[in-house]
Amino acid sequence: MMLPLDFIDHMRQQLGSEADDLFRSLNTESPVSIRLNDKLDVLTFDSDIDEVPWHIDGYYLASRPQFTLDPLFHAGCYYVQEAGSMFVQQALDQYVKPQSIVLDLCAAPGGKSTLISQFLGDQGLLLANEVDRQRVFILSENIQKWGNGNTIVTHNSAEEYGRKCPNLFDVILVDAPCSGEGMFRKEPQAREQWSNRLVQSCAETQRQILMSVWDALKPGGVLIYSTCTFNQHENEYNVQWICDCLGADILPLQQDPSWNIAEGTDGVGYHFYPHHTRSEGFYICCLRKHEEPFTPFRIKTPKHPLAPAAKPEYLTQAQSWLQHPDRWAIRFTERFATAYPIQYRELVDYLSTFLTCVSTGFGLAEERGKGIAPQHSLSMAKDIKLDAFPNVALTREQALAYLRTEALNLSDVPLGILLLTYEGVPLGFAKNVGNRQNNLYPNEWRIRHL
Ligand code: SAM
Repeated sequence: MMLPLDFIDHMRQQLGSEADDLFRSLNTESPVSIRLNDKLDVLTFDSDIDEVPWHIDGYYLASRPQFTLDPLFHAGCYYVQEAGSMFVQQALDQYVKPQSIVLDLCAAPGGKSTLISQFLGDQGLLLANEVDRQRVFILSENIQKWGNGNTIVTHNSAEEYGRKCPNLFDVILVDAPCSGEGMFRKEPQAREQWSNRLVQSCAETQRQILMSVWDALKPGGVLIYSTCTFNQHENEYNVQWICDCLGADILPLQQDPSWNIAEGTDGVGYHFYPHHTRSEGFYICCLRKHEEPFTPFRIKTPKHPLAPAAKPEYLTQAQSWLQHPDRWAIRFTERFATAYPIQYRELVDYLSTFLTCVSTGFGLAEERGKGIAPQHSLSMAKDIKLDAFPNVALTREQALAYLRTEALNLSDVPLGILLLTYEGVPLGFAKNVGNRQNNLYPNEWRIRHL
């Protein structure tokens, strides 16, 4: 499909004679890139790899493997992420402390959330939010598979955050819904949907989102604004509007000239143009909200505490499945126990009273019969104590059968809960009941198409 004519005109005005190089690049193959999780020590791809220059864990693959056939993909060992988006790391490194409370407002499917979660490690807290009802579940799945336990996945609007969480966040990322010009190569239907009118309506929606969430950012806090489109209406002009109407200053991002990242018009933000960088189109700008006196976010102690006391023996058993039980608050709600960072216990308990939380940290245990059993999300968590369960190493074929939730046929394995691994990385649990092993992989995550 041809590039839209109005888009061509637009880009000629924006880029001058360079525009033709951009148009040519949009008709080439998209690069394939992944970002490694620290669950894995070494890359196991056969093909040649190159490093993504602006992210230490980012790699380009020479060709696109069938990721679905790699059990390590399902175990959260890496995330398939467009290379330009990994530049968010530079904004974090340059302006954010790991002890921060961060909101990723438009977070699904979770590429940038998993990156932020990795950056915050065991020091910060991430709220990864998605307003779309369908997309929030894939976000939650990707967060659980990444396994840090420092992330709460919510399903709320920008307006609810702005109204209910005044001055809470040190950092907000708005990776805004946009007209998608940067995806013209990877997703040809983006060309069909594009129009001048779409650009205008996206620019308006973006300002609406920013205005709605603005009160949730602390004065002095950092806003990271990004899109996957090229035009100035959704990028530079909106950033200028943030500065003038909401009150913020642009923060420059240091970068190596060899990376070929283009400065935006009048130095407003940074563009990844595919004729310059090995990436899709991406725009990013980092801003600091103006300082002003403010009332810090207040946690109100709930009248009816959320977490009824668990049976002590259940708590002790669940804690014995963790490497660092002292790092986690454990909440039993109904039959389920979740674990989340203990230093944010009060805040998370309070936020849970009015935000729609889809997942909180990681699922640790559930009551079953007269005892408790581990939840799948524990097997994805990096803090799992591997030797708390008998480990059973699977072959690739067995691993794929497990991930398709097929019957297992393992010989010489002990009775009870088993932790199934592939190349040393946990994939999930099964239960050996004697004459068979029950496959406990979550049905909603199973591989459907091969
Ligand atoms: N940050 C994601 C990542 O790195 O994987 C990609 C986010 S995508 C560019 C933009 C997201 O914004 C979509 O998931 C979309 O559902 C969400 N969205 C759409 N309209 C929105 C609105 N009015 N307020 C907040 N989010 C919205």
